[in-house]
Amino acid sequence: MNMPYIFNIQKFSVHDGPGVRTTIFFKGCPIRCMWCHNPESQKYEPELMKNKDGKDELIGRQYTVKELVKIVQADQIFYDQSGGGVTLSGGEVMTQDIDYIEELVKELHRKGISVAIDTCGVVPPDNYKRILPYTDLFLYDLKLINSQMHKKYTGVSNDLVLENLKLISDQGGKINLRLILINEVNVNDEAICGIASWLREQNISVQSINLLPYHDFGRDKYRNLNRECTQNFEKPSDERIEEIKEYFEKAGYSVKIGG
Ligand code: SF4
Repeated sequence: MNMPYIFNIQKFSVHDGPGVRTTIFFKGCPIRCMWCHNPESQKYEPELMKNKDGKDELIGRQYTVKELVKIVQADQIFYDQSGGGVTLSGGEVMTQDIDYIEELVKELHRKGISVAIDTCGVVPPDNYKRILPYTDLFLYDLKLINSQMHKKYTGVSNDLVLENLKLISDQGGKINLRLILINEVNVNDEAICGIASWLREQNISVQSINLLPYHDFGRDKYRNLNRECTQNFEKPSDERIEEIKEYFEKAGYSVKIGG
């Protein structure tokens, strides 16, 4: 079993699913969204990044499943009181060694800790099938319904993203759909209505939609990693975000702005 690298374990998180959560950020992602605000999550290997004092810091370390479970179990009382749990995020957690991830998810499930998976969908479908029985919620990112545009901005088409979203829905997985909103990329009527029509046509069951306005808080990180910054976009206006919220609400969805 290959042990993944983890670059952050964030306790008392309230933006990565319901209630109070511990979010574990796995290092490594198969795609390259130009707006990514966690560029240190993209490479699967550890790497040096300058910290706030300008010193090189190694990002990424390994934990056994047992170590991780012990860390997250320390806050179980807060999960139980708030309806929270653990969120596995990244990078793309579902492209790590699936034996390791399955063992982790099974162990958390066995201990009564609710598990959410934050995923971009560019993942072999069999990996989802392995963890579906032990996963309480999927925080599923859908960036663009137009495949060519998806390829332009992330480097890959959205074929797998759509296939896996349907698979999870058909198999009864609970889904919070997360839509990042970026000006001049995916907030025009065609992009927004295209998502709603596709969800309807494919009979996708979505528990709620989270609208995540773009931000550029990751810009310094690119510099600290000595990489060219690709985060050169704009957030849509508050009015446009509100219009999109109303549009999805009228289509029958429960919608929240933010994570
Ligand atoms: S899927 Fe997430 S982690 Fe991967 S490149 Fe896109 S924004 Fe970054």
